[in-house]
Amino acid sequence: MRADLLKKELNIFSFRDLLELFPNRHIDKTQVSPIRSITPQTDYVQVAGTLISYDTIGDKRNRRLVAQLRDKSGVLELAWFQGINWVTKNLNIGSDYLVFGRTGFFNGKPQIVHPEMEPYVPAMAGGKAFLEPVYPSTEKLKARGLNGRQLAKFTQALFTQLQPRDIAENIPQPLIDKLGLMNRYEAWRNMHFPVSPQAYEAALKRCKFEELFIAQVRLNLVRLQRNKMSRGVAFEKVGELFNTLYSKYLPFELTGAQKRVLKEIRSDTGRGHQMNRLLQGDVGSGKTIVALLSMLLAADNGYQSCIMAPTEILAQQHYNSISELLKEMPVEVALLTGSTRTAERKRILQGLLDDTIHFVIGTHAVIEDTVQFRNLGLVIVDEQHRFGVAQRARLWEKAELPPHVLVMTATPIPRTLAMTAYGDLDYSIMDELPPGRQPVATVHRYETARAGVMDFVRTEIEKGRQAYFIYPLIEESEKLSYEDLMQGYEQVKSFFPEPKYRISMVHGRQPAEQKETNMERFVKGDTHIMVSTTVIEVGVNVPNASVMVIESAEKFGLSQLHQLRGRVGRGSEKSFCILLTGGKASKEARERIKIMCATNDGFVIAEKDLEIRGPGDIEGTRQSGALNFKVASIVNDKGLLELARTEAESLVNEDTELKMAINSPLKEFLQSQKHRNGWSKIS
Ligand code: ADP
Ligand code: MG
Repeated sequence: MRADLLKKELNIFSFRDLLELFPNRHIDKTQVSPIRSITPQTDYVQVAGTLISYDTIGDKRNRRLVAQLRDKSGVLELAWFQGINWVTKNLNIGSDYLVFGRTGFFNGKPQIVHPEMEPYVPAMAGGKAFLEPVYPSTEKLKARGLNGRQLAKFTQALFTQLQPRDIAENIPQPLIDKLGLMNRYEAWRNMHFPVSPQAYEAALKRCKFEELFIAQVRLNLVRLQRNKMSRGVAFEKVGELFNTLYSKYLPFELTGAQKRVLKEIRSDTGRGHQMNRLLQGDVGSGKTIVALLSMLLAADNGYQSCIMAPTEILAQQHYNSISELLKEMPVEVALLTGSTRTAERKRILQGLLDDTIHFVIGTHAVIEDTVQFRNLGLVIVDEQHRFGVAQRARLWEKAELPPHVLVMTATPIPRTLAMTAYGDLDYSIMDELPPGRQPVATVHRYETARAGVMDFVRTEIEKGRQAYFIYPLIEESEKLSYEDLMQGYEQVKSFFPEPKYRISMVHGRQPAEQKETNMERFVKGDTHIMVSTTVIEVGVNVPNASVMVIESAEKFGLSQLHQLRGRVGRGSEKSFCILLTGGKASKEARERIKIMCATNDGFVIAEKDLEIRGPGDIEGTRQSGALNFKVASIVNDKGLLELARTEAESLVNEDTELKMAINSPLKEFLQSQKHRNGWSKIS
């Protein structure tokens, strides 16, 4: 019964799970503060006192339980908003309690909301500090008498049985020595029952390192194995096509970063192994041209390529700009999306089968589902880092030898995230923008300043520039989003009346054809203003557009704002981004807006985003097993992660199959863990 409950509530299946359920914290039963010492600066506090009264106050929605606890120095208020019935049952006026929690001040009086409480037993006389573990518990478990203390009893009993060999070392001894880490058995003991705060710190460090190190060893093994085992097509030479575009038709000099990345791609694809590379480049860093040159490299070696884009608009745009650059060259390019007509689709599918079409540009779904190639050599996944292992695997089925894969990210991701979630890929960074770009000036304005904003947009249009107005997609309701956008459209129209001003509008409800026409008109400069939802977010390139107004900016996430802003500042003109908000914005939203106004650097923004949201929320990483850390955090333990990465890399490079005796405990551990988290499925 209890076991069932533990299973359901805390995911505990075995004694190992119990051991891995680390305490949230420890309390030193000998450390009790007088109530009077609590100040507004106090954070957490433990006090002991007598319960003198309690009462339920407020009506249904505001119902709360308030109790008073008194010690020799003063009175502390305790409050509960949930589980009131259960708490009330366990309160006894006149009894002594040990109370722990985060303090706050309410009406000038100290208070703890939802404190942890237990009957007070004075610390053993003369006993040394005893750090008692406090385990996470749930209301349901508590209701059955299985609180954190009960769990503490289980683990304590467990440790009387356990021998060091039951928690065998899994990090090679030389590394333990070199880094001065606590051994595994000691660490686990001290995680639960620390002999001192210092021992706890050492145990925590060891456990964090172990977790990160094991993950990094796995990722490096996968990467190495793949590089070694997977045969891939070899692009042996740089030929006619690559050289012609490079020397004759490229309208600019490549940036240093672009050249470096091309070299990396060239070296990956030339070895006869399959390339799996993640290309991280800030918005506007010029990833498209890198993609195109890589495709020409494939073509020079007799292979076909495809670019998969997340939206039709983007596929269309890639198709236009790439066809333009290639128009004098003997390369056949096709566009394939959901709205490609049947006859054209037939022609393209046939052309790809008989190799009369060399490049196909399209949307993910279409290419993944329907296309067969004669000899696919390179797949480029644009503006997405969500492209998972499973999807990659599906592409391999399209060719005898797996094609090379280049994944280009929509926005930079923090280095720590890249190392964990994408640690099995090789990655390149393009952290340089083409010369002559002026940083986009970003400002925050309230709705009340709208007239001024509109005047500003008008002067820009008068100068010959174009402007975007972006409205949020309201996730819960497509209908609401639509109404929002329509209202916005009418409002913009009232400031910019036709026929003097021409406005394009693009949104998710339009038929693809209409979307394209409207987009097309804006790209060509026929319209002055683009009113849109976030469908415009990714990739679109209109260098003449110099103003972006983001409506209800508080509703957008950081990386989304950064992507949107990346639509301006693409030409040589000074560009502007205006973040409009209604007045009410959460603390986090204000923080996001502040960051946007302070920097244009996508890598900095990515780091901040990770700090604000935590890794669990970053797009596309939610299901990544690589991020399910129990004790380590990629936000707070950056240094340890770097260290784990370096050590894992050098270990795996030196002993690629973990055959050395010194690494056998590590190898055994990895094998014993395989079934537990599905890591074996990777690659
Ligand atoms: P992103 O990396 O965001 O996909 P794009 O590939 O769309 O960026 O490039 C943004 C703009 O910069 C395009 O107009 C492109 O032609 C231009 N561009 C790319 N590389 C260079 C370069 N080396 N010098 C000047 N302009 C460049
Ligand atoms: Mg792009």
